[in-house]
Amino acid sequence: MDSEGWIKTTCAYCGVGCGVEARPKPDGQLEVRGDKAHPANFGKLCTKGIALGETVIEDGRLTQPKVRREGGFEPTDWHQALTRIADTFRQTVEQHGPDSVAFYVSGQLLIEDYYVANKLMKGFIGSSNIDSNSRLCMASSVVGHKRAFGSDTVPVCYEDIELAEVVLLIGSNLAWCHPVLYQRLRAAKQQNPAMKIVVVDPRRNESCEIADLHLPLASGSDVALFNGLLHYLVEQDCLDHDFIEQHTDGFQQAKANGLTLDHVAKITGLPTEQIALFYQYFAQHDKVLSIYSQGVNQSSQGSDKVNSIINCHLATGRIGLPGMGPFSVTGQPNAMGGREVGALASMLAGHLEFDRPRDIELLKSFWHSDQLALKPGLKAVDMFDALDEGKIKAIWIMATNPVVSLPNSEKVKRALTKCPLVVVSDCIEDTATTAFADILLPAQGWSEKSGTVTNSERRLSRQRRLLPSPGMAKPDWWMISEVAKKMGFAEHFNYVHEGEVFREYAKLTALGQHEHSRDLDLSALTVISDKEYQALLPQQWPVKTIQKSLVNQRFFADKQFFTANKKAQFISVTTQMPSTNASSSLPLLLNSGRTRDHWHTMTRTGLATSLGAFRAEPYLLIHPDTLKAYGLEAGGVAKVSNSQGHCLLRVISDHSMQSDQVFAPIHWNEMTASKAKVCQLIDARVDAFSGQPEFKHTPVKVEALAMNSKARVIAQQVLSVPKEIEYWAREKVENGYLYHLESTMSDAELKHTLQLWLNGGAKMKMFTYSKPQGSISVFIEQEQVAFACHWLKVGADDSESELIALFNDPDPLAEVEKLAV
Ligand code: SF4
Repeated sequence: MDSEGWIKTTCAYCGVGCGVEARPKPDGQLEVRGDKAHPANFGKLCTKGIALGETVIEDGRLTQPKVRREGGFEPTDWHQALTRIADTFRQTVEQHGPDSVAFYVSGQLLIEDYYVANKLMKGFIGSSNIDSNSRLCMASSVVGHKRAFGSDTVPVCYEDIELAEVVLLIGSNLAWCHPVLYQRLRAAKQQNPAMKIVVVDPRRNESCEIADLHLPLASGSDVALFNGLLHYLVEQDCLDHDFIEQHTDGFQQAKANGLTLDHVAKITGLPTEQIALFYQYFAQHDKVLSIYSQGVNQSSQGSDKVNSIINCHLATGRIGLPGMGPFSVTGQPNAMGGREVGALASMLAGHLEFDRPRDIELLKSFWHSDQLALKPGLKAVDMFDALDEGKIKAIWIMATNPVVSLPNSEKVKRALTKCPLVVVSDCIEDTATTAFADILLPAQGWSEKSGTVTNSERRLSRQRRLLPSPGMAKPDWWMISEVAKKMGFAEHFNYVHEGEVFREYAKLTALGQHEHSRDLDLSALTVISDKEYQALLPQQWPVKTIQKSLVNQRFFADKQFFTANKKAQFISVTTQMPSTNASSSLPLLLNSGRTRDHWHTMTRTGLATSLGAFRAEPYLLIHPDTLKAYGLEAGGVAKVSNSQGHCLLRVISDHSMQSDQVFAPIHWNEMTASKAKVCQLIDARVDAFSGQPEFKHTPVKVEALAMNSKARVIAQQVLSVPKEIEYWAREKVENGYLYHLESTMSDAELKHTLQLWLNGGAKMKMFTYSKPQGSISVFIEQEQVAFACHWLKVGADDSESELIALFNDPDPLAEVEKLAV
């Protein structure tokens, strides 16, 4: 903490990992600003980062352990909850073997939490059934890196954004999903107008604003585009022959899959001139940076897409030097940290590998365990399938919401219902997933937790405690350690402080480095004191000496890779378009992704007033021609469906869309809208290597839903909306929640339903006054507005500001009595 009370920490959201400074205000709220000294953002923050302070409220917090009894949850204490978990996990393992239990964890966890969970599951329970929701985010990049480099190595630094001559954004809407990196890119382009920016994305997304070229390729055709680039580089002799010969294997096989320009145009649907221009940009500049994210990773061919990009960098030797290289940007604040500590079922901690016997030996001896899992476990989708098949009988879900985020959510719900023990640790009480828990454990939230996270450029930063935790909330690493102790592993989980966990993890990364060097090496951090851990500045790995000032390191400048022969591997990849496509019954392709101001399942961003305003309701982007063709109206409600279910989304006419595609955000779910959980429509097709689901290519149909009545309701608390109201969405507003409602009922029926709902006992005074677009009713209880309701004509879009102002009026009676009719 500095002399003015500012404490340095890290943002809770995306993988940019911005440094934040925060200090508590006298009213208990947090003041937040960007950390000018942090190398990820140099003081900048995006809308989500700026609003972090608004999310630190106690609405909806889970504050004590609870167990399910008939009729709902009952409070319990930590001892009873943890004892039951430990006993059930131990008995299940004894009766059915180690693979009958599982942990499903999250990129929101800190390294210390992740490490302890991984150690317990892989090291002592003896199963690798621990997988992270990062499986949904960048597992294909992990596979691509390991196949090409022999290790999961991101070779570049953020600084390369400023140093590049050509920047490709492939399947990445950087402007919305990694906004501070986008700000850096935009500033770099302003400084150097000769810099070329190419966006490769079926949608003309917001990042195109600064692009020189947008390639709206057919969904799923990326491998063809990059195999065509490889062919072009060969034809134009833009190869680095020495690099290929001395430092790589497999070039001839990869080259054999090269495609001609005409062939690429046919598969991608792009004009040959556009493709040729892109290929020229790549060929004519040394400093090419290929930034990619979910549009590449979330695909049934995600791993091959990654390698098709890396192949082009290897063919030109454009890796390891300033301003160049393949750059997978991670989605979550600590997705990279999860990869480091082995929180994916397919990897061990510290970038040790299942298939290297010496690594297994090292880890067994380090953890003093004979129980170490010797093979990979179940990846996320397979894990929930195993739950559904009854093979997994106890699961602990930590800091994530799979009922919203995994494909085919009805199947996920069914699987959870079948599982004899579902433990959920979370900081929020009511989520779509906590509804299926047998035991709920209150976790600390951002601003209460203390530990470390690693961002997309391998930079590890401290997340620091800013505020006390409400109720009985505890750190995740503590609850996992307590369960481990109760399972009989006390001597291995006797941690008293998160710094102790961190030092042990750092020591693990140093194991065997002198025999077989690995990329991930934190050896300088193995002996830091508690005080040094508290004050730790951002460190970019490898950390062989403690970094006291800004360091930018790149991998592979020495042309040495982490494969057995130290050579990089070209991977021979061919274009295989997604197996499921649009048809006459499901004629459109649904692309899913993030919206600008929300995060994942909205449990946090849904609490910030300033973040609700940009898009208050779940929506569907659709091209104006497609909208007309399917009888929809802009501003109306669309039913988007396939055999797995349907969503009801607000229609937005958008020229950025291709006419055969629609786009919907992933955030809204049963807690925030009537029917808007997009993952319900997505089937569980995955990449064969990474297990990452195909989130960007789902055949659907769309229909208009004719609505007859409309209203907005504002209340102090979260409400349970009557089932008869087909469409609703919740928005956080000042001091309350605003509900947007539409119904097929008549105006009179909707009014009747709402009055019964809001004022069932008719105890409140109700005042109504007319408005040009409808009328407003105010329900008064004890001189205060309990609810206010704006009845609107369908299609009318009156501002909600009057309703919100009235709701927050300190003397509402005077106002409404004057206006009432
Ligand atoms: Fe947070 Fe990402 Fe925004 Fe930075 S860019 S403030 S890390 S959400």
